[in-house]
Amino acid sequence: MPRFPATHEPLAACVDRVLAADVLADRDHPPFDRVTMDGIAVAYVDWSAGVREFAVAGTQAAGVPPLALGGPGRCVEVMTGAVLPPGADTVIPVERVERVGGSARVAAGYEPAQGQFIHRRGSDRPAGSRLLAAGQRIGPPEVAVLAGAGCHRVPVTALPRVAVVSTGDELVDVDAPAIAPHQIRSSNDWAIAAALARHRLGTTTRARLPDDVGALLREIGRLHDEHDVLILSGGVSMGQFDFVPRVLEHLGADLVFHRIEQRPGRPMWFGTSRDGKPIFALPGNPVSTLVCTTRYVLPALRAALGATEEPEELATLAEPVELGADLTYFMPVALRASGGGATLVEPRPTNTSGDFVSLAGTIGFVELPRTRRRYEAGDVVRVFRW
Ligand code: AMP
Ligand code: MG
Repeated sequence: MPRFPATHEPLAACVDRVLAADVLADRDHPPFDRVTMDGIAVAYVDWSAGVREFAVAGTQAAGVPPLALGGPGRCVEVMTGAVLPPGADTVIPVERVERVGGSARVAAGYEPAQGQFIHRRGSDRPAGSRLLAAGQRIGPPEVAVLAGAGCHRVPVTALPRVAVVSTGDELVDVDAPAIAPHQIRSSNDWAIAAALARHRLGTTTRARLPDDVGALLREIGRLHDEHDVLILSGGVSMGQFDFVPRVLEHLGADLVFHRIEQRPGRPMWFGTSRDGKPIFALPGNPVSTLVCTTRYVLPALRAALGATEEPEELATLAEPVELGADLTYFMPVALRASGGGATLVEPRPTNTSGDFVSLAGTIGFVELPRTRRRYEAGDVVRVFRW
């Protein structure tokens, strides 16, 4: 996979994108000694000397420069978020204080701890320290950190332009006004585009091509020039009209692999174009297409975006699974409620790899390596979510 370049996006547009550079603190976090409770700010030495009624020197709201305590035995009324007044080091909550004329009297029996209710300057992170590392995927907490750091144009990896190409003479568009008995609606391109959109891994253009060598050569060549990544579906098996591998090689693409010992999705093809652009040619059966997209295309795009690798997700099988052939199996699964604290999944086998309707309601699939022919209920296996 190539490494996609960095760009900048406005803060509002960067959720789920991958950070392309470290983000440093431009100031201390918090930037000043921040009061965390409405109350009075006092000097603890006064408290130790026995003062229980403090003369109120003023009122200190959030968002203004601090007042000074101004002398012994005095306090400043402070609000949450205010800067701690110089000279004060302890905050007594308003619930424990009674106002008596120009004074604030602390409730009998209350014992403040020195330094309480103050969020100390720099105690979370000092200025100059790294708040976020390149490769971080940006979620709501990271958006908050970016906003707090004044980062309104965010360095993120550019999203690749991905051409999602369905091939097959039997296919018609979803909105075709009429459909003949020998035709089917093209769904793979929609599923692939949905996967890339959900995971924010690229912007997609969909195209549909016939099983015709001339048209495939011309159109794949054009789509290649206009995009960073090609994802094709259909036409990679052994049929007389499966022209895709030949066409790609004719266009100068280097084959990296063709066929994987897996079910579904055995005929998958992957290569790179003369310009180094990745080309995924997936088998057309809809379950194969979606499994191969999820198992290979999404991780490859994550790597190309520089995303920090996430730990593998594991799940516990709720029911045994028998492997029918010496191939690694990808078994669709649905979540099952579990009291044990593990992700419990139940197999949802499909009627052949053409049965994409049975995938509805599944969360993804588990990977069952062909090192075994049978997996038992309770076995812990790797799960991939759509
Ligand atoms: P192929 O890999 O071209 O041999 O296609 C295998 C099966 O997948 C055929 O039954 C196709 O009709 C079906 N198929 C291929 N492309 C699509 C598509 N874009 N949407 C839905 N089904 C497809
Ligand atoms: Mg076909």
